[in-house]
Amino acid sequence: MNESLASKAQRAMPRAAMHELSAEERQHSFAEVNTGFTAEQALSEATRCLQCKTRPCVSGCPVRVAIPEFIAALASGELPRSVQILRQNNALPAVCGRVCPQEIQCEARCVRKKNGEAVAIGCLERYVADWEINHQDQVVTEPLPPHTGKRVVVVGSGPAGLTAAGELARYGHAVTIFEALHDCGGVLRYGIPEFRLPKKIVDGEMAHLSALGVTIEYNVIIGKTITLAELQEQFDGIFIANGAGLPRLLNIPGENLKGVYTANEFLTRVNLMEAGRSSNSMTPVIMRREVVVIGGGNTAIDCVRTARRLGAQRALLVYRRSEAEMPARTEEVRHAREEGIEFGMLTSPTAILATKDGWVSALRCVRIRLGPADDSGRQRPEVIEGSEFELSAGVVINAVGAAPNPLFSATVPQLPLNTSGTIIIDATGETGIHGVFAGGDIVRGGATVILAMGDGKRAAGALHRSLASSGERCPNGTRRS
Ligand code: FAD
Ligand code: SF4
Repeated sequence: MNESLASKAQRAMPRAAMHELSAEERQHSFAEVNTGFTAEQALSEATRCLQCKTRPCVSGCPVRVAIPEFIAALASGELPRSVQILRQNNALPAVCGRVCPQEIQCEARCVRKKNGEAVAIGCLERYVADWEINHQDQVVTEPLPPHTGKRVVVVGSGPAGLTAAGELARYGHAVTIFEALHDCGGVLRYGIPEFRLPKKIVDGEMAHLSALGVTIEYNVIIGKTITLAELQEQFDGIFIANGAGLPRLLNIPGENLKGVYTANEFLTRVNLMEAGRSSNSMTPVIMRREVVVIGGGNTAIDCVRTARRLGAQRALLVYRRSEAEMPARTEEVRHAREEGIEFGMLTSPTAILATKDGWVSALRCVRIRLGPADDSGRQRPEVIEGSEFELSAGVVINAVGAAPNPLFSATVPQLPLNTSGTIIIDATGETGIHGVFAGGDIVRGGATVILAMGDGKRAAGALHRSLASSGERCPNGTRRS
C-alpha cells in the first residue's frame, strides 16, 4: 500500500478505546478504573489527528495546549518532544488527562467529531504524561533561570496553587506554598478518589515542583496560623488559592442526624485518612446497606461510587434535574451505571428521617418536572404536587456543592468579595489589595481543575510582571519566552 493510502486507512480507523477494569473487578477495589492506552493504541490514535491548520481543538482548551503539535510529535515517536510541548501550557498533564471534561472542551471542537468520533485527546495527553513519569531519564529538563531575589507565597496547594507555584519558580522567584492540610494537592488529593486519580500522580507532579525549588509548608492555615498582613511583610507577592471547601447545606430537617455526611467530610475521611480502606485509619466512616447521595456533579458521583466500594449494597444517586443536565463527566456517569449505582433523577429531598435513637432511616423526597429555563439557561426544576415518597437509607451524603470558606477572608475586611464570598479580581487576577492575586475556586466558587490551573498561570504571569517592574528588587525581570 502506498503512503497516502496507508494514512487514509489509518485516519478512517475508529477511536481507540482505553482498557478499563471490569465492573466486577471494581466492586470493592480502589484501583484506577482506566488503565491507559498501550503504545500501539496511542500511536494509532495519534494518526487519526488531521493536523488541522485552524486548530479548533486548541481554542476549546482553557490553557491552550498545542494539541496538534504534541500529537504530531507522539505520532512520529518523539515522546520527549511531545512531553515538552504538552508541558509548555499544562503544568499537570497527567492529572488533566484523567479528570478534564474533554467531551465539552477540546474534543467537542475536534473536526473529526463532525463525521464520527473526536480524536481521544485526553487519552493521548494522559499517555504522554504517563510516559514522562516512567521515562524520567529521557526527559529534557529545562534549565532554571537565575534567582530574581524575590520571595513569593502561594496559599493552598490545589491545582491553582500548584500551577502558579510552578510558573513563578520558572520565572526565577523563590516560592513557598502554605497548605492548611498535612498533604498537598487540594481536591486532587482529598476529593477525587484513587480509582479516578491515583495519588502517586499527584505525588509525581509535586516532585516536579520540588525540582524547581518550590517549598511547601504543611499544617499552616492562613488567617489563623499566619495573617495576610504577616505574609505581606515577609513576601514580595502573594497568590491566594484556598479553594471553595465549605459545604453548601441542604437546609432541610434532619440534616444533623447521625449517618448524614457532607461530601467534603466523607471523601476527605476516605481519601486522605483512608477511612474504610485501612484498618489503621484513625477516622472511620459509617457504612450501611443503603446509601443515598444527593447531587449530580463529579462530587456526587465520586461519593456514590466510593460508598459502593466501601460495601453499600444499594447506592443511589438523587438529582433534581434529568441525567442530561448532570454536570458530572460523561465517562464517570457511565462507570457509575456499570458499577450498579442507581439513578433517582428528577427527585428532590425534603427531609431526612430518623430512627428512635437518632440514626438516619430514610430520605423523604418529591418528584420534579422541568419547567422554563432559569438564569443558568437550564430548565427550572418544579415540584409535582402530591408526589412525596420515602427512600430507605442508612447513610445520606450531601453533595450539592461547596462555597468559599470565610475562615481566611473574614480576617481581611479590606479584601473585596462578591455576595457569595468569592474574591473579586481584575483581568490579571489581582485582588483589591495591591500585590495580592487570587484564582481557582476561591474566585469561581467551584469550577474545574483546568480553569483553576488557567487562573494560576495567568496570575503568575501578572505577578511576575508586577515584580519585574518594581525596580532593583527583581534583578532577573525577564519573561519566559
Ligand atoms: P482546591 O483544589 O480546593 O485547593 C485549595 C487548597 O487550599 C486545599 O489544599 C486547601 O486545604 C487549602 N487551603 C484552604 N484554606 C487554606 C488556608 N486558609 N490556608 C492554607 N491553605 C488553605 N474538576 C475537574 O475538572 N474534573 C473532575 O473530575 C473533578 N472532580 C471533582 C471531584 C470532587 C469530589 C470535587 C470536590 C471537585 C472536583 N472537581 C473536578 C473540581 C476541581 O477539583 C476544583 O475546581 C479544583 O480542585 C479547584 O482548585 P483550587 O486550587 O482552586 O482549590
Ligand atoms: Fe487533530 Fe481534532 Fe485538533 Fe483537528 S481538531 S488538529 S483532528 S485533534
